[in-house]
Amino acid sequence: MRTESPKRTFTFSGILCSTLGHDYVVTRKITNHINEYRCANCGKEVTDNLSGRVVSLTFQTKELNTSLANFFQKKMRRKLPLTYEKANL
Ligand SMILES: [Zn+2]
Repeated sequence: MRTESPKRTFTFSGILCSTLGHDYVVTRKITNHINEYRCANCGKEVTDNLSGRVVSLTFQTKELNTSLANFFQKKMRRKLPLTYEKANL
């Protein structure tokens, strides 16, 4: 029986990231504490999850972040009139 494992390709950016670590840049702000990041060298995407840990960005976590961002924006829009009233006092 022949089993094949997926071939790994070694690139310079992959070696750089594996030795020095990823150079993450914020690509999308979801809430005040949750962001999406992309490595500037290899392009790996990660995000903060609800428990504060960094996990890889999959299709499911992207969908979750989109829903969470919509909810957060609605929540912040609802809070704006209250801050406007406090500013007029
Ligand atoms: Zn990287």
